[in-house]
This record gives sequence, C-alpha cells and structure tokens, in this order.
Amino acid sequence: MKSGKSALLYEQAKKLLVGGVDSPVRAFKAVGGTPRFIKEAKGSKIKDADGNSYIDYVCSWGALILGSAYPKVVNALKRQLVKGTSYGAPTELETRLAEIIIDAVPSIERIRFVNSGTEATMASLRLARAYTKRSKILKFEGCYHGHVDPLLVKGGSGMATFSVPDSAGITNATTADTLVCPFNDIEHVKATFEKSGDEIAAVIVEPVAANMGLVLPSPAFLRGLREVTKNHGALLIFDEVVTGFRVSYGGAQAYHQIKPDITCLGKIIGGGLPVGAYGGAHEVMELLAPEGPVYQAGTLAGNPLAMTAGIATLTELKPALYDRLERSSSLLEQGLVRVSRDAVCPVSVNRVGSMLGLFFTDRRVVDYASAKSSNAASYSVFFHSMLNQGIYLPPSQFETIFVSAAHSHADITKTVDAARVALERIRTEATGLMRKVE
Ligand code: PMP
Repeated sequence: MKSGKSALLYEQAKKLLVGGVDSPVRAFKAVGGTPRFIKEAKGSKIKDADGNSYIDYVCSWGALILGSAYPKVVNALKRQLVKGTSYGAPTELETRLAEIIIDAVPSIERIRFVNSGTEATMASLRLARAYTKRSKILKFEGCYHGHVDPLLVKGGSGMATFSVPDSAGITNATTADTLVCPFNDIEHVKATFEKSGDEIAAVIVEPVAANMGLVLPSPAFLRGLREVTKNHGALLIFDEVVTGFRVSYGGAQAYHQIKPDITCLGKIIGGGLPVGAYGGAHEVMELLAPEGPVYQAGTLAGNPLAMTAGIATLTELKPALYDRLERSSSLLEQGLVRVSRDAVCPVSVNRVGSMLGLFFTDRRVVDYASAKSSNAASYSVFFHSMLNQGIYLPPSQFETIFVSAAHSHADITKTVDAARVALERIRTEATGLMRKVE
C-alpha cells in the first residue's frame, strides 16, 4: 500500500504543527510509521491522500456512530450553513438538542453545552466543588477525562501510550486535591472515603473505561460508587463523553441503571462537530452562571452547526439501529476471538455494544494494570498488518475500537479475515525472534 503522499504531508506538517498533528495519538508514535493523512470519508470508509481506502474503526474517536458524511446530517448542515455559522446569541436549536438529550439520559434535568469533552469535565469539577463546598476529586487509574489539569494524573489514552504519569506544566498544587484509585476496586474507594470522605467533592469515572483500551466495569463497582458517594455527601460524575448514546441510547447510566449526579457528554451529541455538554439535577445545575455563582462561558458554545449535526444524528438513533450495531459488533468480537484461537495467539477481547478492546495478553483485562500487560509490540505488528490490508484501527492499544451503523456484514467479514492474517504475522515474527535468540 502506497503512503508517499501521506509521508510528504507529514513532513510538511511537522515543520508547522507540533509533531505534525493537533492531538498526540494521531502521530502514530505508539505503533510507529507514518500517520495517514485523510482526504475524505463516507459511510464506514476513509480515504487517505494516496487514494487508499480503509474500513474505519476509529470513527473520529467514537463520534461518528452513523458513519462518515451521513446524508441526513450533511443535508441538515448544508441548510444551516447558509443561515450563518455562529451568532453568539441563543437559538432554538440548543433547546431542541437539550430536549432530546434530557429525554434520553435518565439523570439529566438541565444541561449546558460547551465545545469539547475537556470543557465538560473541567466545568463539572468546578460545579461539584461549589455544590459540596469541598475540594478533593477522586478519579481512576487509566481513565482519561480530557486534558484537564487536575485530572491529568494516571490518565489513559495518549498519556498511557507515552507513559507520562503527569503532564509537564501542571503544578503539584493543582493535583494535590486529586485522589486516584484502581478502576473496578470498590474496596479501595471505600477505604479512601473512610479516610477523606468529608473532603471529597466528587468521584469522576468513565462508567465504561475507553481510554486504556476498553475495560468494562463490574456492576458492583458502579453500584458501589453510587452508594459510597451518596453516603458521604459527594457527587458522582459519569464521564459519558464516549459512552453517551453509544453503549445505549441513554448511555452507560441507562445500560447499568445507575443515576449519577452530573453527566459529561461530547462526541456523538455533536454528530462529528466540536461539542461537549454537562448536565444533572436542577439543584446542582442552577449553581451555574447566570443563575448561580459558578462561572463558565463559551464564545462558540451551543454553536448552531454543532447543534444541527447533533439533532440530526440523535434523531436517527432508534432501537433498531442499536440492535444492528449489537449484531455487527458481536460478529466482529466472535470473529476476533475465533481467529485468535486459531492463531494460538493470546488475545483478550472486551466488548460492550459497538465498543471493543483488543489486548495481546492471556489475562482478563479489568483495570489499568491488566490493560498494561498487553504486548505493545504485538499490537504494533497487528495494527500495521491491518492497515496494509485496508483496516484502520486506533493507532494505540490504549484506545477503543468503534463500530458504526455504516459498517456492513461484508466490512466485518473482511476485517476478521484480515485479523487472521495479522495474527499469523505476529506468530511468525515471534517465531523468527525466538530462532534469533536461540
Ligand atoms: N472524556 C473522555 C472519556 C474522553 O474519551 C475524552 C476524549 N477522547 C474526553 C473526555 C475529552 O474530550 P475532548 O477530546 O472532546 O476534549
């Protein structure tokens, strides 16, 4: 597969953009090689500058649940585009999208739109601290909540890849109020609350962790978090930036039937345009300016294009679509498990709905420590073999594979066939290495 044009564009970009990219994981550092520069995308396929077409399992990091350039979203955007791109004044579109989200997500009574998931989680901490008049925040190892200073401690995603425990430029004082517990370990959380419960404003968690690969919560973990926060007067924040409208229409909270106090959203609710949102009960949300004393604002917040794409996307998300996603994703999961058994290559697959995690380990992956037992070199070989066969996976094992409604049965079959070849490649490379050692 040719990649000359991407390589050239990467060289040009590196001179002007830091690392040639605007978000670190895109640079392929975890897997090596040249990032593909994308020219266009339609349905389940993306095309790069060299004209190669790939079945896309990144889906703009989960935002594109309908696939790329979905006609109803594109047409709605075209209609809005000629009416203006931003007004800096309220529109009915914001109320309409709010209505759809509030109907869908059990814990949200009122909402505020922002421009990214990062903004949503950052503001939700401020709100929780103001509501409880406490300062500490408890987060989990391997969970990523955007590049929010106090949350850049033991995060997943790009930080897992780069093995940077904390980012430079963040003062000790900023993270002094951040407590960290292992994911899925409710006893650890309880012990932390026993010690500092009256200082903890909130627990923030990805209810399904999508930034250390995909790690599923045990139901007892989420139930335990709800219980312990309630008992100690702390708020429970679900970061559903990835899982909102993905794990189910009502997100992970509807799927697991747990009501958090604040929910952060992003990705799917903007239909591929920049967006974020956070919401919760009236009595928490009314602390926000202009009703209350917690300040948070945004020039482009509630942007009419993002709202339009969000409305057009969420309107398409009917139960039958989730059934279809479940069928195709389960087919992919079963296929991957089957070919990994045939290849005698230790692979552990996690899945919920249209989210999958693939780990090169014989351990069951339930937290950050087990996720890190995945063999990075094997993922890299797998990734490049898949890429060469026209399958675009996340360029890091600490990310999640997303299936969209545009992925066809043929796409899934082609992916599983390619995975068989890729796993065989790992086996032969490993055998070659062993021979060399001998
Ligand atoms: N929360 C989670 C769970 C995420 O996965 C991400 C980004 N992938 C964010 C927050 C931050 O969102 P954004 O990149 O839009 O700032």
